[in-house]
Amino acid sequence: MNWEKNVRRVVPYVAGEQPNKKNMIKLNTNECPYPPAPGVAKLAAGMNCDALRLYPDSNTTPLVNALAEYYQVSPRQVFVGVGSDDVLAMAFLTFFNSDKPILFPDITYSFYDVWADLYRIPYKTCALDENWHIRPEDYKQPNGGIIFPNPNAPTGLMEDMSVVEEIIASNPDSIVIVDEAYVDFGGKSVLPLLEKYDNLLVVQTFSKSRAMAGLRIGFAIGSEKLIGYLNDVKFSFNSYTMNLPAQIMGVEAVRDDAYFKETTGKIVATRERVKKELKKLGFTFPDSMTNFIFASHESVPAEEIYQALRREDIYVRYWNKPRINNCLRITIGTDEQMDRLLSFLREYLSK
Ligand code: PMP
Repeated sequence: MNWEKNVRRVVPYVAGEQPNKKNMIKLNTNECPYPPAPGVAKLAAGMNCDALRLYPDSNTTPLVNALAEYYQVSPRQVFVGVGSDDVLAMAFLTFFNSDKPILFPDITYSFYDVWADLYRIPYKTCALDENWHIRPEDYKQPNGGIIFPNPNAPTGLMEDMSVVEEIIASNPDSIVIVDEAYVDFGGKSVLPLLEKYDNLLVVQTFSKSRAMAGLRIGFAIGSEKLIGYLNDVKFSFNSYTMNLPAQIMGVEAVRDDAYFKETTGKIVATRERVKKELKKLGFTFPDSMTNFIFASHESVPAEEIYQALRREDIYVRYWNKPRINNCLRITIGTDEQMDRLLSFLREYLSK
């Protein structure tokens, strides 16, 4: 009768909703508004389903090799998983095994504290400064590991490589994970720091800039030693994490660099235009380097705007949480979608 005392109870992460309405404008989960590379659709159409009888390559060799070539690292420095959430969950399990707390910003990806609680990892949050930047000195206290996104989410702000390096250099006894989910929208990856630091793990995803959230592909790049430990844990957990279609289509997405640059370039151009328009409407926001803008209005509460947009089937993300409960995170969609959003806001805010 008392079996519940043995249950690992957790408070799960709450993802943005996935409504499926005709003509809706979905700007709430930072997906890409453009389709994946054209070669991906061709592969999907010509998929040899007989191959699905067999287990996929548990080492995801072709995808690891394609990523290694693209990022100019050794294949032994690449780890692939089922979305970066899977990669990050593995990395927490593998690298955060100290009695000392791990450190991450107070305003950040809200999955970090969920994984910490799931694995019983102690953690401490470090407050972003008043301009929502990371204070590197906060990360010079005893810790069992460090993680932050760069650019950060949901603020959209990018820290200079020198700030990231200062944090890594001050923590030779910890593993520092830099979550670069949004780095492809004009940001600068800290991958070059791998030449100097073997305690750095860089995590990226195909979900945003490569328009493949539905396939679930994420990856980590780090020293051979770190990747070796990550693989040991993965192969102690589930060898066949990545399905065959994802492995095949992922390679194609990496190969079509021209399409990748074209779509990310379009999103950046739309973002910069939307920034100007939102400013004219009385919004303020940190200068985003991502595919979203984290905006507050000068007079109308964020929750009110969020509800009004929802009634129009325009979905953005809102959190009723301390410090950020007057902000909306608006994903950058196509120009047409953003124009519809802006024209609604123009009318709504003029009332
Ligand atoms: N890191 C950050 C900062 C994110 O916002 C997200 C998206 N929710 C992820 C990682 C995970 O993305 P995915 O699992 O789709 O790669």
